[in-house]
Amino acid sequence: MFNPSRWRNIVTAKTLFVMLFMAGIGLIVSIVSLLYLSQHLISSKINAIDAHRSALSVDGAIQTSVNRVMSLVVDNAIWDDAVHKVYAPVLDTRWLYETWGAGFKINNLYDGTFVLDQRYQVLWGSFHSQSFNEHDLTFFGEGLRALIAQHKAELASGKNVYAGITQTREGIAFVGIGLIRPMTSRLNVYDATRRYLIITRHINPGILKDLGNTFQIANLNFTPQKHSEYSVPLMSSGGKVVGYLNWQPRLPGAEAAMAASPEIRKIVALAAGLILLFIILSSLGLYKLARGEKQAREIAMTDWLSHLPNRRALIEQLEHATRRGDEELKTVVFIDLDGFKDVNDIYGHDVGDALIVHIAHTLQTQLPTGGMLARLGGDEFAMTVSGADSGQRAAAFAGMVLDTLSQPIQIGERTIHISASIGIASGILENSTSSELFRRADIAMYHSKITGKGRITHYDAELNSAREYQLGIENDIRDGLENNEFDVWYQPIVDARSQKMTSVEALVRWPRRPKGELKPDAFIAIAETSGLIYALGQFVLRRACTDLQKFDGLRLSVNISPAQFRDPEFENKVAQVIESCHFPPYRLQLEVTETYVLENPERARSAIANLKALGTAIALDDFGTGYSSIGYLRRFNFDTIKIDKSLAGLVDSDDQAAALVSGTIRIASALGMKVVAEGVENEKQMKLLRLAGCDQLQGFWFSEPMPIASLLQLRQQRQC
Ligand code: C2E
Ligand code: CA
Ligand code: CA
Repeated sequence: MFNPSRWRNIVTAKTLFVMLFMAGIGLIVSIVSLLYLSQHLISSKINAIDAHRSALSVDGAIQTSVNRVMSLVVDNAIWDDAVHKVYAPVLDTRWLYETWGAGFKINNLYDGTFVLDQRYQVLWGSFHSQSFNEHDLTFFGEGLRALIAQHKAELASGKNVYAGITQTREGIAFVGIGLIRPMTSRLNVYDATRRYLIITRHINPGILKDLGNTFQIANLNFTPQKHSEYSVPLMSSGGKVVGYLNWQPRLPGAEAAMAASPEIRKIVALAAGLILLFIILSSLGLYKLARGEKQAREIAMTDWLSHLPNRRALIEQLEHATRRGDEELKTVVFIDLDGFKDVNDIYGHDVGDALIVHIAHTLQTQLPTGGMLARLGGDEFAMTVSGADSGQRAAAFAGMVLDTLSQPIQIGERTIHISASIGIASGILENSTSSELFRRADIAMYHSKITGKGRITHYDAELNSAREYQLGIENDIRDGLENNEFDVWYQPIVDARSQKMTSVEALVRWPRRPKGELKPDAFIAIAETSGLIYALGQFVLRRACTDLQKFDGLRLSVNISPAQFRDPEFENKVAQVIESCHFPPYRLQLEVTETYVLENPERARSAIANLKALGTAIALDDFGTGYSSIGYLRRFNFDTIKIDKSLAGLVDSDDQAAALVSGTIRIASALGMKVVAEGVENEKQMKLLRLAGCDQLQGFWFSEPMPIASLLQLRQQRQC
């Protein structure tokens, strides 16, 4: 069965699940990116800090190297022995070589030593322990020249020594210069004569390696050009960039990140796991919720007994079609079982339930394609089908249902006969609402009920007005009972021989109906189908017993509808009335028609037996209008048979009718039943019926029905 709301449910649950899943994945991605982003940020910050520190270290290494050369100059130039040697008129080159020139080989603290005069001409030099034979400063490059130019005066006065960086012909060198002067005393020259000591130390891989080790700088190297961001420029004393010192960055941030990676991966896995767990748990909850809701809806939409869709499901489906603007023809078939209440009353509810399940199953197998069958409750079913040919298909279905139900149904050991009253209505939902379609099918079904049951009625407008009329009467009866609009009249029944009134039949009258009096024939059937007959019948019985209580010796006959007889409490109700009215039970006779007796022989027999046990007599009313033979009816032990006026009234004109009447009377008498003939309208009829052997007679020939006051008068007259 298609159920739109169930579908809606599943869709919502799915969407929610997808949303939850996406949100979860989004959360995982953001957490992971956040973690990695911050890790990256921290590591690059650490790297930047380290790069800065390395640059400072390299600067420090350069400065240290410059300072070392300066210290060397201080140590060697401010020296009394050297003063003696270099200020002598003739330079002691041997001493110079042994003292300074050979030092290169020994301590590797410098590679060149030079002695200059006051004009900065090289007097003596040794480079890499080889004698240096140039006189000007070309070899030393602009760095030294700048150093000299900047500090000429201080150099000459011997105030200070200076060091810096220069580019010599041999490469980049740390260079220092200072006046050669005695340690303690003043320099003892009285002219411009000056001797300067220059020390050079060229940058080479060895030096850089030492510096790197000392300052913890990896792979410190020199390049003339800058080719990486991890480098500092080497500035000559003249402010010229003469090259770059480069190093290999340690990238401690990256290292730290590498080191922390496993932990971060664990955190990511944990977070992802927790979020996934959250998604799974939420989805599970969501699934359970959706399933619970689905089940609840299914329960709410399903009939608990037959498991068919229920009234709500059917209406919802039709309303869904209306909302969709479905312009297809829709047909509703209403099925109401006849006599189901009796099955419940006689065999018990278990058998009743089993019968409903059996019938539900049978109907389901006959369902036209695309049709939907629902149990509306009790013994009511409805089927809907759509399409241009839905009317024909529904009619075929209804026909099959009647056919099937005409077969007795076996429930356990019981064989049950049941029929159904069916109503069919078609319409396009745009013009009529689904409830209107239901109402029409219901009206048609109702018509089947009141016109003999076990049949199919197709709705038409006339039925509608008939139904409306009936509903009006129903309301009138209800009001009438409340407003005391009903009376009971009595029609005498006389002894056929003595012609004396032996009993009366109570007949209901409605004189005070505001819209005008109605005959019982016009409202009893409506009271029966609407259930109002229970109250009305009870009213008549009570009123008649009260009225007749004081008419000692006069018997009372009261009409009982099949519907009343069906009431399992009926016998008790009768007992209560006769007791409360102090009416002697043996004076009471109840008239029943064969309709009920034939429909429910078992219940009828037990009801008759119970009533007889109270002392009450039972009469079969309207004999001759039905189909049963007197032979069949004998088993119910009626006390009296009332031959209907439609038969009795023909005795004077129709020989066949006369023969039938006399035959019936003979058999009834033989079976010990009294016979009453109704509708005696003339003397001839009276005589013929008396001759035929009727015990009692009733009809206008004797008396019409009259109010209790008239009956009282009549009795008093007769008795006088
Ligand atoms: P019924 O039980 O066959 O009642 C007899 C009907 O025949 C009464 O009509 C009565 O007035 C009428 N009748 C009597 N003698 C003659 C006659 O010589 N000629 C003609 N043409 N008719 C005669 P009423 O009172 O209109 O009742 C009609 C039916 O309504 C009754 O038929 C009975 O089936 C039902 N009815 C009346 N009162 C009650 C009641 O209190 N309870 C129930 N359940 N049904 C009632
Ligand atoms: Ca009657
Ligand atoms: Ca009758």
